Amino acid sequence: MTLHAAGAGMAGLCSAARARELGLDVVVHEKGDRAGGSMLLSSCVVWRYRDLETFRDQCPGGDAGLQRVVIERLDDDLEWLRRLGAEVVWEETGNPLTVGVRFDPRSLTDALVRAAGDVRLGETAPADADQLLLATGGFQGDPALVHEHIHPGGEPLLRANRWSAGDGLRLALARGGALSNGMGEFYGRAMPAPPAVVREDEFVGLAQLYGRHALVLDDRGEEFAPDPISWSETDLVQAIAQRPNARAWYLVDEDALAVEIRGRSIGEMIEAARAAGGEVVLPNELGIEIPGAYLYAVHVVAGITHTIGGVRIDPHARVLRDDGTHVEGLYAAGADAGGIATGGYASGLASALVFGRIAVETAAQA
Ligand SMILES: Cc1cc2nc3c(=O)[nH]c(=O)nc-3n(C[C@H](O)[C@H](O)[C@H](O)COP(=O)(O)OP(=O)(O)OC[C@H]3O[C@@H](n4cnc5c(N)ncnc54)[C@H](O)[C@@H]3O)c2cc1C
Repeated sequence: MTLHAAGAGMAGLCSAARARELGLDVVVHEKGDRAGGSMLLSSCVVWRYRDLETFRDQCPGGDAGLQRVVIERLDDDLEWLRRLGAEVVWEETGNPLTVGVRFDPRSLTDALVRAAGDVRLGETAPADADQLLLATGGFQGDPALVHEHIHPGGEPLLRANRWSAGDGLRLALARGGALSNGMGEFYGRAMPAPPAVVREDEFVGLAQLYGRHALVLDDRGEEFAPDPISWSETDLVQAIAQRPNARAWYLVDEDALAVEIRGRSIGEMIEAARAAGGEVVLPNELGIEIPGAYLYAVHVVAGITHTIGGVRIDPHARVLRDDGTHVEGLYAAGADAGGIATGGYASGLASALVFGRIAVETAAQA
């Protein structure tokens, strides 16, 4: 029997590469005109929390059984990616809470495409396939689904490949699958707000990562940031999405400009926003009363990288119904599979890798 994978991103390609090792027939169907999905656009740091306790602490709403699987399997799965020939560019994440490696995204994509074999661009998987893996990358690309589940106060920026528009979610629901928890949550970054123009090859370089070092006001001048803001700032970006226009102003004082975050200074991030056509103004130009003295006000919009809620799965990557039974022959991995990082943020590439591989191991026994 042939396994059909919907999506040639991280989860779909990892599953197909594993399927071929196991001697299964597999076809990867990719809706877009290239393989790699958001993985190819990403920083490509594939990581896990140091231990399950830290994972639970950082993502308290996530399914503990799924989190345990990521912790237990990721290190071996990273070795497997190296053996496929993917180039590692950093051996550490630089974050004391996490361990993992950074790959070169082009090298990782190419290695996985080689190993995956039959990758068909410009087509979707047969919805009624007997063995079907949903690996379409989440629903952030569908404004209607985003408004239904996330309820933003305006239009967030799509900070992901443009084809991940909830196809996996709809297909799972049509076959009786259930939703995970955390449907209103997403991982994202604050990005320069329009009129800035953000091309997809600038999703990493234009991210504004310094909310913790700024006074954060919404478009009405109200202060609203979570206190404290988490290390990943995912909670802040989710909060920005809820404010009017899904936007905020980051007010930064002179002392903060030299602070380095992930290899870039705050001053460089602000200059990048300005160069992209973003609004970087003097705080008194905002026409609101501001407590304290700040040098710049930078207008940002919530950018959605991927949704955190999605299809409910079990630790074997099988799609579950509301009653806890699984839908025969239907699997989900990557951002299509929800409820792993609820309440926080965890590596989307890691869960795509781990559950993409597990899905085919389960299918092999079917
Ligand atoms: C700028 C940026 C930086 C990031 N940095 C990191 C990072 O450092 N670490 C990390 O862990 N994560 C990071 N991510 C997130 C990471 O890329 C995703 O979590 C990961 O790619 C999810 O894997 P996936 O297979 O679910 O989705 P993707 O890799 O996006 O693949 C989904 C694929 O499905 C295709 N598709 C959609 N609908 C269909 C359909 N109906 N039929 C067939 N194909 C379909 C899409 O075109 C796409 O190719 C980043 C993302 C971005 C955009």
